[in-house]
Amino acid sequence: MLRQVAEGVLVHESEFCQSNAVVVQGRGGVLLIDAGVLGDELACLANDLSDAGQAVVAGFSTHPHWDHLLWHPGLGAAPRYGTARCAATARERPSGGVDAVAKAAGIPEEVPLDLLGLITGLPSETTQIPWDGPGVRIIEHQAHAPGHAALLIEERGVLVAGDMLSDVLIPMLDLNGTVDPIEDYLAALRLLEGVAGDVDVFVAGHGSVGGADEVHARIDQDRAYLRSLRGGCALSDPRVGPSAKDGWEWVAGVHERQLQRLA
Ligand SMILES: [Zn+2]
Repeated sequence: MLRQVAEGVLVHESEFCQSNAVVVQGRGGVLLIDAGVLGDELACLANDLSDAGQAVVAGFSTHPHWDHLLWHPGLGAAPRYGTARCAATARERPSGGVDAVAKAAGIPEEVPLDLLGLITGLPSETTQIPWDGPGVRIIEHQAHAPGHAALLIEERGVLVAGDMLSDVLIPMLDLNGTVDPIEDYLAALRLLEGVAGDVDVFVAGHGSVGGADEVHARIDQDRAYLRSLRGGCALSDPRVGPSAKDGWEWVAGVHERQLQRLA
């Protein structure tokens, strides 16, 4: 079910990890950001859009993690964009084949993998998504995954944060091939803080949609988490431990792994 969060901006929430797909209405159709996860949900979204007479004219993946790279035939053949680094990473194919790797990684069977990762990389100097609709600024940064981008729809006051600023997930660092993943993440938070004044609503890739009053609180919470990770000081984060939301107990395991890798 699509829920409007701002004029011409709608969110479709998945049962899988509270993933949020974002629909932005343009002049000749919609832009679809991080389309969704489960096959029946993607089909439902495609039906809802076609019932509303809205064609998908462009897609965008915020980053090259599988749950942000999916698509459904019913959504049509519009170009699916990402940053150049996102697209390059998404194109790297595991040697064992996608299906075998997906099974090993525990990706649910209800996830359609046929159209996984067919992303067109935008040249690195691109600042706006090329489409006929409200301007969508690309805020690329080095945190969580290669080529991760948040999107700012300035006319609508909406920030699509990708896998940043979540109320259920701690900052999950990109620990592969980066020299100082904590500093990278802090730099990304500074970038988002720099646009916070333009934000009325923000949509995290997983978790609750937040209002203007919550942007700084989530940035502060993520900074506190990162500082405790770096300083080895006691962690008090509501997303880890007994205060985690039902179904999110596994986040504590991510925290433990990050602690070990950074030790
Ligand atoms: Zn991710």
